[in-house]
Amino acid sequence: MSPEAALAGVRVVIDAGPTYEDIDPVRFLGNRSSGKMGFAVAAAAVAAGAEVTLVAGPVALVTPPGVARRIDVRSALEMRDAVLAAVRDADIFIATAAVADWRVAEYSTHKIKKGPSGAPVLELVENPDILAEVAAGNPRPFVVGFAAETDHVTEHGREKLVRKRLDMLAANHVNENLGIGADDNALELIWAGGSETLPRASKSELARTLVARIAAHYRDRCPTE
Ligand code: C5P
Repeated sequence: MSPEAALAGVRVVIDAGPTYEDIDPVRFLGNRSSGKMGFAVAAAAVAAGAEVTLVAGPVALVTPPGVARRIDVRSALEMRDAVLAAVRDADIFIATAAVADWRVAEYSTHKIKKGPSGAPVLELVENPDILAEVAAGNPRPFVVGFAAETDHVTEHGREKLVRKRLDMLAANHVNENLGIGADDNALELIWAGGSETLPRASKSELARTLVARIAAHYRDRCPTE
């Protein structure tokens, strides 16, 4: 199958970027994520013929041409609602977003004042794991996760693949030159039956290879699609 047709007629949902968890009207908790990898994956999926829905956290990026739908969200809870609605009729879900692990238990509607009593103590609560939730669904799409690791990339990645019940996981080695915010990346692609190193390349080149591999595994899994 030609690269332009690898995902012809396949509906793909991609989440991308960080989430911002508001503390008060002027402050938030967030993650370091540019959204570049997710947007590159969206562009590569379009190039492979997919119908792409992109759920984007707060990023400063232009929608890749050909993306069918872009839904902008801010918080993890908003991202979860948008993703769960979008995956209802999706064939593949690719979770590239850096979802904030926690949000404040109580949002303050007024700006928290600095004062003599010192810094406030923020109570945090855990955000839902959007990826694990989609993977636990029945029926559910073919599910691909991302993971940023600083060490033991394959080992930690495989643990995540099993725990979150994913079809594939793209593990990212995060250091000062690769991964977050950088233009280049390298990935360790992991699935139940094996793994493959996708060596350092630009995020758009890497996204094209990644999408080709996802398409091949998806076709193996769902040969009638
Ligand atoms: O467990 P960890 O955060 O490293 O997992 C990363 C993967 O899980 C990414 O694909 C990310 O988009 C997804 N994730 C999620 N919801 C969360 C946390 C992570 O979808 N609350």
